[in-house]
Amino acid sequence: MARPAPVFPAPDHDHDRCSTDAMAVAEALCAQRGQRLTAIRRKVLGTLLASHKPLGAYEIIERLASKGARPAPITAYRALEFLRQNGLVHRIESRNAFVACVHNHASGDPVVFLICERCGAVGEAAGAAVAETIRSASRAAGFTPKTPVIEISGICTHCKAAA
Ligand SMILES: [Zn+2]
Ligand SMILES: [Zn+2]
Ligand SMILES: [Zn+2]
Repeated sequence: MARPAPVFPAPDHDHDRCSTDAMAVAEALCAQRGQRLTAIRRKVLGTLLASHKPLGAYEIIERLASKGARPAPITAYRALEFLRQNGLVHRIESRNAFVACVHNHASGDPVVFLICERCGAVGEAAGAAVAETIRSASRAAGFTPKTPVIEISGICTHCKAAA
């Protein structure tokens, strides 16, 4: 992206713009790949884009149900899986939750998640250098890493400033 987003957007940032931009990026990416951002995929992504906090699959379904028809869990899971495979959503294993990716990177790229213990916000830090270290350590062990995801919990810059 031309305009790099801060890892932890300020609490008063223009989130409407932020989520509208991310949805536009998702649409462009799907069009470019000949994939369809169907209504349910768009709704699931929109629910995740509503905040920078991760949501569990059940919470996503509950939020969709509060706004209209309740999707069948399998439908929601399939939409999530599509979004995940296309790098539009990441799974946070330690929270058993999903977060929208606003960084438009290749889906195989390593990701370092910084998870705030206070406000629950999840930031995505560039992980190229870390990934190289992991790759060489794995290679030395004859190990093939598949999911290059690192999750680090701590306190985000805004919560730290507020403390
Ligand atoms: Zn935002
Ligand atoms: Zn990402
Ligand atoms: Zn925080």
